[in-house]
Amino acid sequence: MIVRISTLLFMLALPILLLGQTRGVCGFDSDKAFGQNIQELKKWVAEGNLSTRGNVVTYVPVKFHIISKNDGSKGLSEQVVLDALCHLNEEYADQDIQFYIYGGIKYIKNDLAYNNPGDAELVLQGNKDSKAMNIFMGLNANPPGGGIPGGTTLGYFAGSPSQDWIIIKNSEVNGFASTIPHEVGHYFNLDHPFNGWDCTAWTEAEHGNPVSSLMSPCDPSVPNEFANGDNCQVAGDFLCDTPADYNLGYFDGNDCNYTGNCKDPNGDQMQPDEDNFMGYFNGCADYFFSGQQKQIIAARLLQRTNLETDFIPSSVSIDGTTTLVQPADNSTTPAYNNVAFEWTPVAGANQYLLEVDLSNGFSVDPQRIMVWGTYKVVQGLIANKKYYWRVRPFNAYNTCAPKSPISDFTTGTAISTVEPPYVTNWSVRPNPVSAGQSLQLEMNTRESFEASVELRNLNGQTLQTMQAGFSAGNSTLEIPTSGLANGIYILTVQSSEGILNERIVIAH
Ligand SMILES: [Zn+2]
Repeated sequence: MIVRISTLLFMLALPILLLGQTRGVCGFDSDKAFGQNIQELKKWVAEGNLSTRGNVVTYVPVKFHIISKNDGSKGLSEQVVLDALCHLNEEYADQDIQFYIYGGIKYIKNDLAYNNPGDAELVLQGNKDSKAMNIFMGLNANPPGGGIPGGTTLGYFAGSPSQDWIIIKNSEVNGFASTIPHEVGHYFNLDHPFNGWDCTAWTEAEHGNPVSSLMSPCDPSVPNEFANGDNCQVAGDFLCDTPADYNLGYFDGNDCNYTGNCKDPNGDQMQPDEDNFMGYFNGCADYFFSGQQKQIIAARLLQRTNLETDFIPSSVSIDGTTTLVQPADNSTTPAYNNVAFEWTPVAGANQYLLEVDLSNGFSVDPQRIMVWGTYKVVQGLIANKKYYWRVRPFNAYNTCAPKSPISDFTTGTAISTVEPPYVTNWSVRPNPVSAGQSLQLEMNTRESFEASVELRNLNGQTLQTMQAGFSAGNSTLEIPTSGLANGIYILTVQSSEGILNERIVIAH
């Protein structure tokens, strides 16, 4: 077992954030079985088994888990998840591997899991989707067993068969950090090039120059890889086109250029590959996977037969972004409780991320809604307030389209009752109804929806509430009236997209 200590994890665009007291680290913990699997995968590749894959793109399902606090607050914006998926796909495109959102984004509300997903093993187990690569995103990403002294873990792959998931710190979920592509490399069985040095980084004072030991400091079963590559099959990451590295990126600058003088036990000058995805050098213009790393990834992908890879994207490209139609820019809506939003369809997109907020930074109390289609009625806005909104088109695979420009409007003060657009017909019978007899609510809807069904008196007092799920097509809901006195009542069916009202009379 390798002891984990801090190792610097790079970021492409903002390496400066990693300077200072706290260093970003990767919490991946390699072990003997992981290394053995690399040897087996190499053998399998050498036997020619990769030729079956051809040059066809494999679509890998990803279950993104946005974890929020119990009250639903603090969870990541879907915007950055879309950005991160777009970036991940760019980085794996040359391997004919692309990733797609599998069955929508999953939302977990749990304080413990939000604070540090690795502390909430049972929550993760309960939400893991065995047909996809699971990425759990929370405030922290500290591996079980405690944090790493002097370091902040930015992400890790938990490789035990019962886990087999990736945990990412929220701050690393964006369109530029290399943390997710790096952890996905571990998911496909790649080690760090400096395997055996994960718990430390070379210094002359501690390890000698030339390095004095033939075995690595963190895993005594892994030899130190020689700069001349002589023992590359059994040392370091067990791959021969990733040069020896003794975690030399950890103390290196931000210029993606190793100029230190570390010498291996033979006395040969170390020449690590600074811009390898699985190493820890900062500030490289671009990172890459080596040829052998790509072979291991491809082989491990073929082994992962649980993944649902028969996906065909609805469209691989999305034609620009959308134009916002209503509410018109700078307009005032008549009502505030049901505001209808509409935008133009975009070729290639079948979903749209609608954001509405009191600030044009979408940071006050944003409503973020994934919409199938180009129309949505939003509730819960405040009367007589200026709001901002924007829309981003996407589909499960292509999440690279830009957001629309921001438009604003002011909410009116009236209350409107908008009927849910998918309800084609509904009725409540019998009406009048005898005291004690049940009402039959007949619903005909094009889409299934959930609603709150309430009975109020004419003073607006709610006397009875029930939650109901209506499935697409015809359905009937029985509503008891026992305990209600003779008189006139209002029955309301309130969904997230509108309200249905019916006047009910209870009589003998
Ligand atoms: Zn790592």
